[in-house]
Amino acid sequence: MNYKVLYRKYRPSTFSDVVGQNRTIELLKDSIINDKISHAYIFTGPRGTGKTSTAKIFAKSINCLNGKDGEPCNECENCLNFNQNSDIYEIDAASNNGVDQVREIIENIKLAPINSKYKVYIIDEVHMLSSSAFNALLLTLEEPPSHVVFILATTDIEDVPITVLSRCQRLDFKKISNKDIVDNMKKISATEKINVDSEALEEIADFADGGMRDALSILDQLSKNNTEITQEIVLNSLGLISNKEINDVLEAVKNSDVDKVVQFISFVQDHATDFKTICKKLIRAIDKKAIDIKRNPNQNTLEYKKLKDMALEISSLIYKYNVNIDPYANLELVLLDYIDKFTKNISREIDIVEESTGREINENADNNLEDNVNKTTQPNFEKNSLTKEESKEKQNKNESIKPVRDNSELCEIRVNNCFVNANKSFLGDAKEVWKKFVNLAKMKKDRAFLIDTTIVLASDTNWVIKADIDATADNINDNIRAIEDALENYINKKYKLIAVSEEAWNNYMQEYKNNLAQNIKYEMKEEPKIKDTKKIVEDIFLNSKIEVK
Ligand SMILES: [Zn+2]
Repeated sequence: MNYKVLYRKYRPSTFSDVVGQNRTIELLKDSIINDKISHAYIFTGPRGTGKTSTAKIFAKSINCLNGKDGEPCNECENCLNFNQNSDIYEIDAASNNGVDQVREIIENIKLAPINSKYKVYIIDEVHMLSSSAFNALLLTLEEPPSHVVFILATTDIEDVPITVLSRCQRLDFKKISNKDIVDNMKKISATEKINVDSEALEEIADFADGGMRDALSILDQLSKNNTEITQEIVLNSLGLISNKEINDVLEAVKNSDVDKVVQFISFVQDHATDFKTICKKLIRAIDKKAIDIKRNPNQNTLEYKKLKDMALEISSLIYKYNVNIDPYANLELVLLDYIDKFTKNISREIDIVEESTGREINENADNNLEDNVNKTTQPNFEKNSLTKEESKEKQNKNESIKPVRDNSELCEIRVNNCFVNANKSFLGDAKEVWKKFVNLAKMKKDRAFLIDTTIVLASDTNWVIKADIDATADNINDNIRAIEDALENYINKKYKLIAVSEEAWNNYMQEYKNNLAQNIKYEMKEEPKIKDTKKIVEDIFLNSKIEVK
């Protein structure tokens, strides 16, 4: 039996067969129709999106004897003999990446094509060429003979030297949409009499992440082992999790159902579910919820922001996957962290609403704090409790109970005061200390809490912390005094800290540049009184003191 894998059997043979790359295909067809063929192209895009297939169709079309509207006829001598055509060279740079192979091409390039109009060199995975091979290629690309067309294909365009890129016409291949992948699989399944339901196809497309080749390979494999392919079969064999379960865990976060979140993580871990796929599914589900909020005329902007931040934090986990010791634990922390944040929303609103009775809330917070301090038995907590006494005094006098935000008066003044004496040497030291401080704070919550923060400005008295995620800046500022104390514990020096979001920091820097241009100097300003709205982290920092030391 001559069995051919599906993706080979259904490899597109005309431009109109190529799925999901309409714009790129139009450009190529136009260049053929108008006889404006470049001598070097670079096709870039994720794997399995049709780069090599398109390169071959292009090579066939420009040599076709009866081409019409840019398409190859697939009937003429050249089209029929395309696979044996000695004027078409396909080189896989992943396995032939040396300068010798490229030299061979160059030698051969001067000779006219044997039976075609163009000699076509398709170099797959071109980013894998060695640098001497790139240099050799470059010489050829500078002045190629008129009968030669190069098509370079790569998944990693940033690894291709700019000198090579500048000599090529660049065409981008995008991830193929789930719908296009599903439609194509449906067509093929019907022809191949594969019994598969739509939900199963959706899951396969989702997993393939824009790559048709991967999708067809999965379909191929599953069809060999199952007479009927259901969603459940796909989920089980790919180690995936259903959208319902994803939605359930997000509901659990919203409803502060810690057990459910923990169960979810241990389930996906036990079932070796692909980590990145879970993250992607979570992000998509969050995205859907966020869209629903935006569509609602009485939209809950706070909830929207929380969802947005949660999605960003989860996507940063994908990015850090390879350097993460326990990605599942981190995902769990992010989800648990948002349980806090969703609840915090409510307490923050009470804080603002009950402004006139703010004293009462402060006292409660202080009681909690004392409980926490009493729970710790560390020998040097006295120093901390002293600081707490001071802060309690300050708090009792304090009239303002607005939470600290990165555009607030306190923030502006702290950034201003930091600019007064800031320099690069302070900054270098501060960055190093901060990095260690964040790493050493081993307790679960503060890692999730302080991750993705850096010091961007430092003087001998003040540091400015920049947080990649807006909610982190808010969170740090809510707990600024606790963090200052913990840092003081660690380095025996007190700094005034403030956290800013990326956007706020850019604004501060812009202002700094303007001031510099106009020769306006920064001068120290007196700070307004501040109040911590949350005490949770103090507890954690106090408890982790020994580890920090
Ligand atoms: Zn033809």
